[in-house]
Amino acid sequence: MKTAVYPGSFDPITNGHFDIICRAAKLADKLIVAPLINYSKKHFFSLNERCEYIKILTKNMPNIIVEPFDGLLVDFARRKKIGIIIRGLRTVTDFEYEFQMALANRNLAPGIETIFISASLKYLYVSSGMTKEIAKLGGNISEMVPSEIKDFVFDKLNKNKK
Ligand code: ADP
Repeated sequence: MKTAVYPGSFDPITNGHFDIICRAAKLADKLIVAPLINYSKKHFFSLNERCEYIKILTKNMPNIIVEPFDGLLVDFARRKKIGIIIRGLRTVTDFEYEFQMALANRNLAPGIETIFISASLKYLYVSSGMTKEIAKLGGNISEMVPSEIKDFVFDKLNKNKK
């Protein structure tokens, strides 16, 4: 059984992330979508919210589970017997960071492979950061965030402009 993990901040999950989830779910028998519990990086959405949004979107996808993690990704992967790390690639800037991280993870855990999935053209510009900026200014985020969670995301961002 091939188990893959798709780690990320998902602060909040966007159409770009969800597109990667749908495509990765076809490559693995089981896909663990793993929001990062990062005590040093401040997330706008709580861990509970970030997990809930992903659960809403994947509720009819039987081979997907949502499980947050902290610490080293490779330690989490070893504990869960995960052999594949999925990451999405949008731009050259993503590539530099992602490639370096993949090499570091490979050095720490040679048996675990990172697989990059290229962003779909229509979501190339989509990021959690851009979604937050636009929603805080009252703009339309319906092209960026799945419709099932758009209102929750917009309301929280628009009410808590920080
Ligand atoms: P991180 O903080 O780990 O970069 P993100 O939640 O920003 O977490 O992203 C998780 C992964 O999803 C990363 O590999 C990122 O490059 C990828 N990703 C983010 N947005 C998109 C998008 N629009 N299309 C494809 N991949 C994306």
